[in-house]
Parts: sequence; structure tokens; C-alpha cells
Amino acid sequence: MSVETFVTDKAGLHKFYEAVMASRETYAPVEKFGKFDFKRVTRLTECDPESPIATTQSIKPLFFPRSAKVMKYLATSAGTEVSEVDEDPLAVKRVILGAKHCDARSLQVLDKVYNWDYIDTDYQKRRENTVIISTRCDQAGTHCFCTSLDYDVENLDAMDVVIVNGADGKIYIKARTPKGENFLTELNTEYRILNIESQMSEEDKYGEMKKQYESFTGSFRLKMDYKEVNAKLSKIFDTPEFENVSGNCVSCNTCAFVCPTCHCFKISDEKVKDTGVRYKSYDSCNNGYFTLMAGGHNPRPVKYRRWRQRAMHKFVYYKERFGENLCVGCGKCTIACPVNISIFEVVNQVSSAAMQE
Ligand code: SF4
Ligand code: SF4
Repeated sequence: MSVETFVTDKAGLHKFYEAVMASRETYAPVEKFGKFDFKRVTRLTECDPESPIATTQSIKPLFFPRSAKVMKYLATSAGTEVSEVDEDPLAVKRVILGAKHCDARSLQVLDKVYNWDYIDTDYQKRRENTVIISTRCDQAGTHCFCTSLDYDVENLDAMDVVIVNGADGKIYIKARTPKGENFLTELNTEYRILNIESQMSEEDKYGEMKKQYESFTGSFRLKMDYKEVNAKLSKIFDTPEFENVSGNCVSCNTCAFVCPTCHCFKISDEKVKDTGVRYKSYDSCNNGYFTLMAGGHNPRPVKYRRWRQRAMHKFVYYKERFGENLCVGCGKCTIACPVNISIFEVVNQVSSAAMQE
């Protein structure tokens, strides 16, 4: 089965968004105090699926929540009893609108670890039940470097449906996966997506989308050779340059919390008298207590070692284990860092210093 690429205009796109929201539970970027986050929406007026590049939050919390109640329990001298386990609100059939391509890609990276030695069935179910609709960026943000990394942004199949802004106000809507094809077919049958260019060939539509991509790739300020970074970092575990790049870090963990690919978590219990709640919440390797062991030993007691772990995990260890960088070049960590540390600069600076040692 292969669904045609729909061609529409702004009014048609808005009609498409409304149809999506009418068809399934929908999440989209919602603005609050100048920042965007993905929230449940029912109308286009509540959200902005074309929110700016500097969306401060990724779609990760819709698959791996920031802090989720695992269970509630009653612990008495007679024993412990689980008293409540909530239904998973993220496991329903749903659509995410307005995800950036880096966000969509981050899930393909996370799939590797969630389907590795332990299969996370909650994550799997959320993935299976979600259709991701992504609008391709027109312009790179100041801290973006997605096109420098190990994935094909132009032909990415991490989103189920891609929307591309073409010339002359034309907008292209294309399925990228079988799930996306089924979704567009169902949607078009029920709501009719406005197709203003029924005469245009698929080849011409592809050509128009390619032009948009070429203009987009020309807008990047940041570029790097990830293969060189992978190779150099893998040889320089002991360089003192990690102390220089991490000097200002206040170990606040914000970079990991907003990162779409970081996946460390902790399990904590909060108990009042006999009743307790167990949570699964984000944690970070930048946290000084992250590797503290029960006997008091901490193999990463200083921040340069923690930052080294962060950089190495992203650009060496994950790549060695799963064949992919644990970074999609979205720049969210740099935008959010209170002391302006940039992972792009860190890995490039450490790699360059290593050359001079
Ligand atoms: S490390 Fe930074 S640039 Fe890389 S994916 Fe995470 S937030 Fe984005
Ligand atoms: S956001 Fe910045 S200061 Fe906070 S842990 Fe990350 S690098 Fe350090």
C-alpha cells in the first residue's frame, strides 16, 4: 500500500489538524510563559503544532514520564499490600502533532535500550499506540546540529507522517511508515484531507520537498564530523580537558531532564505512616549521588568524571553497543543549561584538545 502525498495550503492544513484531533486523543505543543510543552488538546486554538524550533521540552515524557506513580501500598506489621495501581493514561491510541524530526528520531534511539536486556512493556505499548506527525523545520535553531549526526534527516522514517512547507504556500503531507499510511487513509476516508494539487506527480512533489530540505540544511550554524568525534573521544578517557569543559557545571541535571534521549531514572518511596507511594522519576549521571553505593563508595565523586560519563555515553558507549549516537543534535540541553554549557562545544573541545596531547 502506498498513499499519495497530499498537497494542501494553510487553511487545508488547519482542517487536517482539526480532523486529527477529532479522530483520536491528541497531544501538541502548548505555550506557557513563552515556553512550549506537549499537552493533551482538543482544538487547534489550544495549541501551536508549528511551534518554534526552541521548543523547550521534547516528546519523551509522553513515553517516559518525568515522575510517574508506579503503585500505592499499605505497609503494616501484618505485611505489605499493594493498594492501588493506576491505568496507564499514555497507553491509549493517540496522535502527537508538532514533534520536531529530532524528537521523533530520539524515540528510534531509545527503542534500542528499551528493547534490549529488559523489555519495557509500558514503553512498548505507548510506542505501538502512538502516531507521530512531524513538521519538518524550515530553519535551524542557534544550537541545532541534527544534520551533522548519524541519521538521515531528509528521509527520516521516525515519524509516521511528515509535513513539509513548500514554495508558493503549498504544504505537503506524506506518510513515512505503514502506520502513517493507515492513519492517513482512515483520516481521508472519514474527513477528506483537502488536496489542492491532484494533477501534480509524486516525483514533482518529492522535488519540491527536496528544495525545502536543501534550504533548511543551508541554515545551520553548527556543523561537526560525528565520526571524528566518536573516534577521538574513544581514545582519550584520561584527558584533563574534561575538567576545563565541566568547570562551570552546577550539577543541576537540567540538561538530562530536557534531553530527548537521556533515560536514567530512580525509584523512590514516599511514605506517611502506613501508606506509601512508589515513584519512577528522572535521574541523571550529572547528579553527584547517582553512582553513590550503599557502602559509601562513589566512583564519580567529582563533576569532571560525571561530565566525562555524559559525553562518552552519548558519543562512544551507546554507539559501540547499539550502533547509534545517544544524541540527536536538538540543542535543548544547551538552551536549558543555566551556565551555558553546550554538548556540541564539549565534545568538539575535548576531541580537539586530544589531538594536541
Ligand atoms: S545531548 Fe543535548 S543536543 Fe543531544 S539529544 Fe540531548 S538535549 Fe539534544
Ligand atoms: S544543565 Fe548545565 S549546569 Fe546543569 S547539569 Fe547540565 S551542564 Fe551542568
